[in-house]
Amino acid sequence: MDKCSFCGREKSETNLLIAGISGHICDSCVEQAHDIILDELKKKSNFDLGSIKLLKPKEIKAFLDQYVIGQDEAKKFLSVAVYNHYKRLLSISKTDDVELEKSNIILVGETGTGKTLLARTIAKMLHVPFTIVDATILTEAGYVGEDIESILTRLLQNADYDIKAAEKGIVFIDEIDKIARKGDNPSITRDVSGEGVQQGLLKLLEGSIVNVPPQGGRKHPEQKLIPVDTKNILFICGGAFDGVEKKIGQRLNTKVVGYGAQQNMEKIDRENLLQYIAPQDLKSFGLIPEIIGRLPVLTYLNPLDRETLRNILTEPKNSIIKQYVKLFEIDDIKLSFSEETYEFIVDKAIEFKLGARGLRSICELIMIDAMYELPSKNEKEIHIDLEYAKHKLQHTDSKRLKVA
Ligand code: ADP
Repeated sequence: MDKCSFCGREKSETNLLIAGISGHICDSCVEQAHDIILDELKKKSNFDLGSIKLLKPKEIKAFLDQYVIGQDEAKKFLSVAVYNHYKRLLSISKTDDVELEKSNIILVGETGTGKTLLARTIAKMLHVPFTIVDATILTEAGYVGEDIESILTRLLQNADYDIKAAEKGIVFIDEIDKIARKGDNPSITRDVSGEGVQQGLLKLLEGSIVNVPPQGGRKHPEQKLIPVDTKNILFICGGAFDGVEKKIGQRLNTKVVGYGAQQNMEKIDRENLLQYIAPQDLKSFGLIPEIIGRLPVLTYLNPLDRETLRNILTEPKNSIIKQYVKLFEIDDIKLSFSEETYEFIVDKAIEFKLGARGLRSICELIMIDAMYELPSKNEKEIHIDLEYAKHKLQHTDSKRLKVA
């Protein structure tokens, strides 16, 4: 009598019994096996944390250099912080008396100077789950905004719901300055939008078990929540902190009195006060001390000067210009630019005050006709010189240059 070699059912008890070389399997065992396979595949994650190859700080910086122009100070701080963070993670099982504390990072710099790009590049290097969240969504409507926990929903989603991987990921919180307390006097203006959100955020930064709604949005009773431990998640915060220079200036002025004051004053670079940023300036700006304490690595980004903008155009590994060349290459068309064209693009970005984000929009306007027409023509080469670029941009005013 033929039987299923797995469950022992006799042929008459099954819908179908499949014969193999030395055994049989019934239809319900096939289905069960299929489910097991699916489950196991789901468990296998894209993010294998065992394979994080921890580069030394100098190697991390060299990696960042391929994608981000300038910003050496920020790169140095970030490299060391990331190195320490993952060193701490990888040695966490070894019990030790000295507990290494987490080093969350705060990057201060004008918008468009590369804060997000730095965080993104670090995540790319480490192959860990990464997400960007905008702190303003938490405050927009005061308490009606999204719950703080939903910050982690996107991280979970990006980790394909692999909780273990998400718990070692990186979260970039943009516009952290927008949750600053508005008034200077905390006892009178206890505004929920600022301080309430900061208190909530504190929980995440400190490291605690947070119940995350898997689909985001506000928590509701029927939604099954996923507990996520934030202890080993690296938080990188970024913000422009508009006007913080004034606070830095005030602090520097009050400090320099007495012997040697004159000498110190002369050394201060008034053009770029951000380089002197210190935790107390963030406090004057309206971040609560507890938050500042949980962001121990504080560094700044420089405003982008002409030369940096020029380099951003062509130097990064996936620079805008390299991308256009590649696009044309796919159609077998050789694309080249004159140096004057590059200078012109940079001039326009500065003129329209668009910064690095504007470079792409300007290029797009210059290249649109070529991209439209060339694939249907037989020409195999195109050179963009100053005259061509000027002609294409002639009737453009800054309103047409949208900045992503
Ligand atoms: P931020 O987060 O500081 O507002 P982003 O990192 O989003 O700015 O930068 C905006 C865009 O400008 C990026 O996509 C990038 O292409 C470009 N960019 C800005 N700064 C740099 C830089 N230092 N090196 C290379 N590209 C940069």
